[in-house]
Amino acid sequence: MSQTVLVLNSGSSSLKYQLLQPDTGASLAHGIVERIGEEASSAVLTFGDREIRRDGRIADHEAALRTAFDLFAEAGQRLDSLGLVAVGHRVVHGGQRLYRPTVVDDAVLDQLRELAPLAPLHNPPAVLGIKVARRVLPELPHVAVFDTAFFHALPAAASTYAIDRDLAARWQIRRYGFHGTSHQYVSQQAADFLGAPLESLNQIVLHLGNGASGSAIAGGRPVDTTMGLTPMEGLVMGTRSGDIDPGVISYLWRTAGMGVEDIEVMLNRRSGMYGLAGEIDFRILHQRIESGDEDARLAYEVYVHRLRKYIGAYLAILGHTDVVTFTAGVGENDARVRRDALTGLATLGIEIDEHLNESPTRGARLISADKSPTSVLVIPTNEELAIARACLTVI
Ligand code: ADP
Repeated sequence: MSQTVLVLNSGSSSLKYQLLQPDTGASLAHGIVERIGEEASSAVLTFGDREIRRDGRIADHEAALRTAFDLFAEAGQRLDSLGLVAVGHRVVHGGQRLYRPTVVDDAVLDQLRELAPLAPLHNPPAVLGIKVARRVLPELPHVAVFDTAFFHALPAAASTYAIDRDLAARWQIRRYGFHGTSHQYVSQQAADFLGAPLESLNQIVLHLGNGASGSAIAGGRPVDTTMGLTPMEGLVMGTRSGDIDPGVISYLWRTAGMGVEDIEVMLNRRSGMYGLAGEIDFRILHQRIESGDEDARLAYEVYVHRLRKYIGAYLAILGHTDVVTFTAGVGENDARVRRDALTGLATLGIEIDEHLNESPTRGARLISADKSPTSVLVIPTNEELAIARACLTVI
């Protein structure tokens, strides 16, 4: 039987899981437990064509994981008979020292806890997920795979903030970059799709989901990325602002009487498309624009403006790009965003084919015109598979 890896992505009130075969890339099962700790918790498992659901209070993350296993049992499956060899954990921030896939022991867990201030919204739930999963599945190796890993190799010119260098060194302040698992996976998939060695290609990858980031990649190595110390920098996102003048923060603190946590919550959860239009789903935003909603229109224009700005910046940094690839929820599904991001760039060698762009085809596909020197691709990301494969490199 093929080996399988259980990949966990633990959020503050949710636990996503997927069981994969790293060698074939097959996903055997996936599910989510949501609203953990509330009265109306829910747990879903999809195994093959069966979907099993359980509603009702799930007190904490440990109960969530045990409920997921109960659902496997209800589906007539036992994890120990499915070739499970490791548990992979998505961890957002690895700080300066943790970037390779790392088998978690108590010392690593302590190091992860120390990183909480660098990613206060993301790392603590991941640490909790690892702690709970080690308790529930003590006999298996647990591997932390970091969102920052791929961008550890950013050149210093791209990773360094132009601030007081002693302060930066003391507090580990640099541009780390995030969504690295996705950028690395998608750039390799793009090379495979084009039948070209990864080392031969300049690439721009646009990961546009609720969180959004772009990267410039030369010969498989990252040259720049839009996210920084935290996943807040760069592109406009579902609820995050992306780039703002850092002066806004001190201005709000001084004049609006907002504390640091209020400002952080505002920038993370009440900004981006939500902050401008009260909505993060691009399908609904487009409907609202069509019915004349000016807030939705402005939000969309700000989003596209920022995206084009980074595409231009990355073209300048790379000199030229062989391929531009769109991925994640918006990138994979929203033909209008792809069109508006790249329209008018023919003189820079990028030309989209409207018909291919609008085709409802799924899967990896080419959407550039025949005469476009730059290939434009849509490639579904698969962070869970990349995490599962990363686990096998260290166990
Ligand atoms: P996350 O960052 O949470 O993983 P996803 O990559 O799943 O996010 O992206 C989710 C977003 O993708 C949704 O909020 C929505 O805006 C967008 N999206 C999903 N499906 C479509 C679609 N068919 N058309 C346009 N946008 C879509």
